[in-house]
Amino acid sequence: MKLSIVVPVYNEVETLPRLYDALLPVLRGTGHEYEVLLIDDGSRDGSWDVLQELAEKNSHIKVIRFRRNYGQTAAMNAGLHEATGDVVVTMDADLQNDPTDIPMMLAKLDEGYDLVHGWRKNRQDKAISRKLPSKIANWLISRVTGFPIHDLGCTLKAMRSEIAEDIQLYGEMHRFIPILAHWRGARCAEVVTKHHARQFGVSKYGIGRTFRVLLDLLTVKYLTSYMTSPMNLFGKFGLWSFTFALISCIATIAMKMVGGVDMTGNPLLLLTVFAGFVGMQFLVLGMLGEQGVRTYYESQGKTYYTVRTRLNMSEESPLGENDEVRHALAVLAKHVPAAPSMKLHDARRAA
Ligand code: UDP
Ligand code: MG
Repeated sequence: MKLSIVVPVYNEVETLPRLYDALLPVLRGTGHEYEVLLIDDGSRDGSWDVLQELAEKNSHIKVIRFRRNYGQTAAMNAGLHEATGDVVVTMDADLQNDPTDIPMMLAKLDEGYDLVHGWRKNRQDKAISRKLPSKIANWLISRVTGFPIHDLGCTLKAMRSEIAEDIQLYGEMHRFIPILAHWRGARCAEVVTKHHARQFGVSKYGIGRTFRVLLDLLTVKYLTSYMTSPMNLFGKFGLWSFTFALISCIATIAMKMVGGVDMTGNPLLLLTVFAGFVGMQFLVLGMLGEQGVRTYYESQGKTYYTVRTRLNMSEESPLGENDEVRHALAVLAKHVPAAPSMKLHDARRAA
C-alpha cells in the first residue's frame, strides 16, 4: 500500500520545516510506501524556497506550485487528483492537526471504511469568532444534509484513492468532502483527533468564512439531492405554480359570472398571469437542468452511479472505465479531425 499525504500551503514558511520533522517519522513508522504532496497556493513569504529545499532533500516530497493564490479548496483538489497513493490523507500545514493521528485513522480505514474524518473534540481556536460559528454551521449542515457529523472543518481526513479521484471541489467545498463522498457511496466514519493551537504564522480565515460555507451548503444540498433529477425539484415548483394560476383563473371567472366583478379590474387576473409565467419558468429551468446533467455526465463518459465491485467481470469494464474513453478520444483527436464529435459508443469501441 502507498500513502499520499496532501497538504495545502499558503504562507507557512515557519511551520514547513517543523511539519517535515513531525510528519516524516510517522510516515516511516507506518511501514508503507509514501509521498507527501505539498501544494503551494501562491505563497509570498518564502514558503516556496523552503519547499524546494525539502523536495531536494527527500524525493518523497512532491511539490505543486500554483501561479497565484486560489484558496485552500483548489489546493486540496489539486492534491487529491495528483496523488498516486492507494490511501490519501489530507491535513493542514500549520500543525494544528497532529500527524501522530494518521496510523489510528489508517487502522479505522482497515475496518472497511472508505473515508475517515477527524473531529476536533478539543479544539484549540478562539471561542467566539471560530468555535461558536463552527458549532452552529456543523449543526445546520448536519440537519440539512442528514449526514451525522460533529466537525466538518477538520482537515485531517483519510480516504481511499478511488474516493479522492471521484471528488471535484469548488468554492469552499473542501470541508464537504465527507458528505460528497457519502453521496457517491463511500462508507464514512468520524474519529476524535488531537488539535493544537497555531504556533507560527496566522490563520487565513475569519468570521466571514461562515457565510461562504452556508452558501456552499445550499450547493451541496442541491447536488446531493437533485443533481441527477433537476426536473424533480423545479418541475414540482412549476406544477404548484400552474395549479395556483388555475385556481386563481377559475376564481376570476367565477367572480365575474356570479358577482359581476370586472375581470380586468380584478387583481386575481394579474395573479393568474404571474403564476402562469413563474410556472413556465420553473419548467424550463427543469428542462435546462436535465440537459445540463446529461451534458455533465455523458460528455465526460461519467456515470451518476458508482460501482463498488464486479463479479465474474473484468474489473475494467469498458462501459464504466472513463479514463480509457477519454484517452482514446485524446489520441483520436490528434489524428482524426472529426474525432471530437464522435459518438461515445464509437469511442468506447475504439478504446
Ligand atoms: N491555505 C491555503 N490557501 C489559502 C488559505 C489557507 O492553502 O488561501 C492553507 C493553509 O496554509 C493551511 C490550511 O490551508 O495549511 C488551513 O488554513 P488555516 O490554518 O489558516 O485555517 P484555520 O486552521 O485557521 O481554519
Ligand atoms: Mg489552521
